[in-house]
Amino acid sequence: MDTATRMSRRSFLKLTGGTAAGATAVSLAAFGVKTAHAAPQKIPKRGQEFPSVCPYCAVGCGQLAMVSDGQIINIEGNPDSPINQGTLCSKGSASYQLVHNERRMTKGMYRAPGSDSWQEMSVAEILDKVAQRMIESREKNFVETLNGATVNRTESLAWLGSACVDNEECYLIAKLARTLGIVYLEHQARI
Ligand code: SF4
Repeated sequence: MDTATRMSRRSFLKLTGGTAAGATAVSLAAFGVKTAHAAPQKIPKRGQEFPSVCPYCAVGCGQLAMVSDGQIINIEGNPDSPINQGTLCSKGSASYQLVHNERRMTKGMYRAPGSDSWQEMSVAEILDKVAQRMIESREKNFVETLNGATVNRTESLAWLGSACVDNEECYLIAKLARTLGIVYLEHQARI
């Protein structure tokens, strides 16, 4: 077995990452640009590791979430996953910040029809408002028959899916949309 074959994926990433970082530092130095360095991360090796799946897209990369005292203290790629073999893209690498990030938006902004100002609203209030609008629109525009045929549908609503939802969520969303009579059911795939 040659060296390249013996080299593990982790050591390969370490080597190529280091080489790229070195080349970048040299080119920036040539232009007199000071590079910023992230503070070294001290991740305590305590707690319990839980295999999980990155929630961001349908690639479904495996993650390991380390939990201590009921808190997630680190999330990294799962080397046992056949999909990503320990790697994560930039979004997956930042998924720890889904849990811990003081900048994370926890409220929404609402501007009423005709109003020129926004008001802060909780996510629960916004979801209630969206649900209420959907019910109103459906009731107002529901079509039971068309050209003598039973159609039971509404054309006033559309549902756009997400690459972030998993199979089970897709199933439930499709069921709910069809139950409401939504015919414009689409998906945005970014892969
Ligand atoms: S967002 Fe990145 S890490 Fe997460 S599943 Fe997609 S490709 Fe993998």
